[in-house]
Amino acid sequence: MPREGEPRTARAAGPEAAARVFVDPALCIGSGICLATAPRHFEPGGDNRSRARPDAPASDESAEDAAALCPVEAIGLVAGPPAPGPPPGP
Ligand code: SF4
Repeated sequence: MPREGEPRTARAAGPEAAARVFVDPALCIGSGICLATAPRHFEPGGDNRSRARPDAPASDESAEDAAALCPVEAIGLVAGPPAPGPPPGP
């Protein structure tokens, strides 16, 4: 889950924000929609869930689309360099 005050979705981050994607593994149900929509940003996690690619580029339109299409809102964006997992908890 994003920390309080962090953008919840790609659209919430705004088009000018340099952001990377993350997947909340507690929410992901493994639909694979993000893999099909934004394969440069997401990869299979090996546990029937998706995860952010460690080498994912900064967020773009395909990442925004994946966040909007995720059926359980498991995708979010945070500022900073790409990382494989969700941001640290509180
Ligand atoms: S679209 Fe959402 S639920 Fe489906 S695999 Fe991606 S993160 Fe998981």
